[in-house]
Amino acid sequence: MSNKIYLDYAATTPVDAKVLEKMLPYFSKNFGNAMSVHSFGQEALESIDNARAQTAKFFGCSPSEIIFTSGATESNNLVVKGSLRSYYSVTRKTGEKPHIITTKFEHHCVLDACKLAEKDGLAEITYITPNHEGIVSTKDIQNSIKPNTILISVMYVNNEIGTLQPIAEIGKMLKKINAERLEKKLQQVFFHTDATQAINYFNCNVNEIGVDLLSMSAHKIYGPKGVGILYIKKGTHIKRVQDGGDQEYKMRAGTHNVPGIVGLGEAVSMIKTPKTQAAIKEIKKLRDYLIKRVLKEIPKSYLNGLKEKRSPNNANFRFDNVEGEGLILSLDLEGIAASTGSACSSGALEPSHVLLSMGLRHEQAHGSLRITIGKYTTKKEIDILIVNLKEIVKRLRKISGNVLSEFK
Ligand code: PMP
Repeated sequence: MSNKIYLDYAATTPVDAKVLEKMLPYFSKNFGNAMSVHSFGQEALESIDNARAQTAKFFGCSPSEIIFTSGATESNNLVVKGSLRSYYSVTRKTGEKPHIITTKFEHHCVLDACKLAEKDGLAEITYITPNHEGIVSTKDIQNSIKPNTILISVMYVNNEIGTLQPIAEIGKMLKKINAERLEKKLQQVFFHTDATQAINYFNCNVNEIGVDLLSMSAHKIYGPKGVGILYIKKGTHIKRVQDGGDQEYKMRAGTHNVPGIVGLGEAVSMIKTPKTQAAIKEIKKLRDYLIKRVLKEIPKSYLNGLKEKRSPNNANFRFDNVEGEGLILSLDLEGIAASTGSACSSGALEPSHVLLSMGLRHEQAHGSLRITIGKYTTKKEIDILIVNLKEIVKRLRKISGNVLSEFK
């Protein structure tokens, strides 16, 4: 990488050299379409089968339960829309609307798919509010389950604040509830987690955490962009939403992204190696060093989200009287890439829906800075960040102080 400093690993990661090496032949020499019957196609199919086996091993499931998609956005859309399609075309016996439970701080691809279903009159949705530290409660979810509930979708790790959600606990609770529902002849509640930000760091064995559906994207784990998976446990009620070819067990039509899938398989299979596990320990140490120094050396700085239950690579700060956008732009001028919770939508700066959902005020939700580190981050880079951050926060506060005093 260049001498610029990249601290936005939650947005995306560089492709690992080993992953790239595995992918390269599939762009040119082995370019076949995996659905073709000739040898070019069969070669491509074999490489997909291999990636599917690597992926299934990582998630502890059967290869036929892995569906390759274009990424977590597509997987998450398929979960919400495909569950509703299944309900309306197979399960529904009465005129009752299905009910979905999700959280207020999901990624927009889950949240907006739910909002659209609600707007179209297709589903009733409950949005669970996380606590002030960015964690949802299993009890709140349990208390929201109704006879017509068909799906619960809770992200494993929040992409902005990095907080870890009690996925295994929800899975365990739901197993009990589903056993009772079976006796009452009520339909099963399926459990989905968007594990996009969790794959690198937390247990993703689908049986151990008790999920029926799981989404992820390869580009968050040193793999390529535009490819991901949806794990679908056998027996889960879901229908395809994309019409076309018979690829991916007829669940996802479209020509396979062969190099991408090969890269995903390789990236996933690298996670449990001792080398990666050692790198994760270093990432956590470096992240803790960053949090400690920022909170100590920058007055009126705070960490968003519980420190103990968060992704080892995430530190999300807010600073009184400082706009997040100003921080990001000033850091970028110094060659440091970070991110903020605020998203620029329709030309207007919106405060982070994640921070608002945790009960932060608008001005607090505007002032966030997300630093996410990875296996190539060094202590020197963190030290450079801190020096710059101290200066920038001081300068921005001075400007905002001057602006405020002019209007007094
Ligand atoms: N879910 C989460 C939690 C994410 O962090 C992201 C990527 N920011 C997505 C879904 C969407 O992934 P993609 O853009 O690769 O489809």
